[in-house]
Amino acid sequence: MISVAQAQAALFDLVSPLPVEWVPLAAGLGRVLAQDLRASRAQPPFDASAMDGYAMRAADAVAGSRVQVIGESAAGHAFGGAVSSGQAVRIFTGAVVPKGADCIVIQEDVTPFGDHITITETTSAGAHIRPAGNDFDADFILQSPTRLRAADLALLAAMNHAQLPVYRQPQVAIISTGDELVLPGQMPGPDQIIASNTFGIKAQLEQLGAKARILPIARDNDASLRLAFDLAAGADLIVTIGGASVGDHDLVGAVAAEQGLDRQFYKVAMRPGKPLMAGRMGNAIMLGLPGNPVSAMVCTEVFLHPIIEGLQGLPLQARQPSYAQLAHDIGPNGNREHYMRADITESGHLNVFENQDSAKLRLYAQARALVVRPPNDGPQPAGAVLPFIPLG
Ligand code: AMP
Ligand code: MG
Repeated sequence: MISVAQAQAALFDLVSPLPVEWVPLAAGLGRVLAQDLRASRAQPPFDASAMDGYAMRAADAVAGSRVQVIGESAAGHAFGGAVSSGQAVRIFTGAVVPKGADCIVIQEDVTPFGDHITITETTSAGAHIRPAGNDFDADFILQSPTRLRAADLALLAAMNHAQLPVYRQPQVAIISTGDELVLPGQMPGPDQIIASNTFGIKAQLEQLGAKARILPIARDNDASLRLAFDLAAGADLIVTIGGASVGDHDLVGAVAAEQGLDRQFYKVAMRPGKPLMAGRMGNAIMLGLPGNPVSAMVCTEVFLHPIIEGLQGLPLQARQPSYAQLAHDIGPNGNREHYMRADITESGHLNVFENQDSAKLRLYAQARALVVRPPNDGPQPAGAVLPFIPLG
């Protein structure tokens, strides 16, 4: 058996970023930017008024003084002339500040009379003006790789980018294996169960930006498994679930080898999830997950999450843990790296579940953290600070 870190290193060797494609700005959410993008235009592109009021010289904006209103500047309709001493231009939010003016007196601070106004509050130079480039300059760059969030899309729109270069989304084929499995909604026989982690894993991968397909369940015979691998053609990543340990019906290793799997490793010293195989299979990366629902989903967090990020051009690295204090004492760890299911109390402490059974999905659904215990870690007292992987 190899360590989790060794398994990750071997896996990461198989990963390189997928090709770049262009997508419309409106389809950019969650995609990873593949090139630095430059604003090429300042925002705002001109000195703009931040308020409704009057643009004038600060020297005139003194309580009691009276100035003449010579025109109007509205958003999208700049005033063509300039403001001289003793003059003002009626102005609205977002409009260009006319030449000669260096402050905006807000409309609440004037008394209008005919084409004149009297200032009632002294206003200083620069007041209520957003200078050109106040938000960003023309040479501002949004750097790649960045996973685009809603605010990034607004920013890129303001930068006038209608099309975005992004890494292609990883295509994942998910193969569940087992004579005992039926799909949700089907009628299981008395000796059958419902394929469950298949759907959890699909969702985990899609949250990370992958496109995952669930293939028909492969039965525990060579022909069925071969057919499933054939159907997986074109995927960047082939994930099998179950059938990867040494039981008589565990055929994944043999059939994958026959289909050209160049196996990097088999079996990782971790809990949950010991049986785990990986390697290159044609143009795809193949990862064989254990069948137990919790084991499969934990292995997805630990191994597949970084791969999906790396394929999208993000840094290829093991999960970066968060840290929190234990709510209670916990016992020593065994000789495998343990990802202990825990929830997080209102005070932010880790509450490690008493029961760590890797077949219990109901408990896993309650977990919000995987507390990472190195092999042979000693007992840990309440208050000890431990690393954990947050569960979304
Ligand atoms: P295996 O590795 O094929 O021996 O599977 C280990 C355990 O996980 C068995 O109890 C299987 O029934 C169960 N199992 C395998 N695949 C799935 C799946 N897709 N969903 C739920 N349970 C599964
Ligand atoms: Mg099986």
